[in-house]
Amino acid sequence: MSDHAQRILVVEDERSIAGILRDYLLRAGFRVTQVGDGQAALRAVAEEEPDLILLDLMLPGVDGLTVCREVRQRSAVPIIMATARVEEIDRLLGMELGADDYVCKPFSPREVVARVKAVLRRVQPVARESREGGGGATIEIDKGAQRASVGGQRLDLTPTEFRLLRLLVSHPGRIYSRAQILELAYDDDQDVSDRVVDSHIKNLRRKIARLAPDQEVIHSVYGMGYRYEVEGR
Ligand code: CA
Repeated sequence: MSDHAQRILVVEDERSIAGILRDYLLRAGFRVTQVGDGQAALRAVAEEEPDLILLDLMLPGVDGLTVCREVRQRSAVPIIMATARVEEIDRLLGMELGADDYVCKPFSPREVVARVKAVLRRVQPVARESREGGGGATIEIDKGAQRASVGGQRLDLTPTEFRLLRLLVSHPGRIYSRAQILELAYDDDQDVSDRVVDSHIKNLRRKIARLAPDQEVIHSVYGMGYRYEVEGR
């Protein structure tokens, strides 16, 4: 298997089905991450940036619909939804969830692999690099001077707020969990909790909003964390 093999995230709570899908996908040359509930799915999307998600509709906890919506808010990663009832598909199509394809259970794993390949062929490769080029980014970070500005106006930030902002801006569109933010933007000897991160984010937003009132650039992603992105208007 090559290092460039595409990664499929299999979200399926029925272990036997998940195992069979996994075997077939591995045999077809894909890498596979397997999770059994919606919360874990959202985490895996953020951490592993899969090339395609095979998403079961009925999941314990956060269901497939919610996972699909959350993922779509931030990513164009292809999603194939699996449902147990064929009549469900019409309803799902009507909801315009943004899934790329639907398969109905019981399915043959061979058919699913064929659908995965078809969807991947159809989808243009996501141009992550160009998005990170910062074309529309309005926040400038001056690492040397430890200063940040928005639209040319300097932001008056505490050192912690600066590190936090620098981290988020370094990868536009990428979601950082609170745990990652704590690890990457805070000193080891700072004894802080998730709630401290939230309050620092709040302060950052307030300071940015003061200079750029119509620009929301730090976004909360439910159940996952925060991302920086300047959205086209
Ligand atoms: Ca299920």
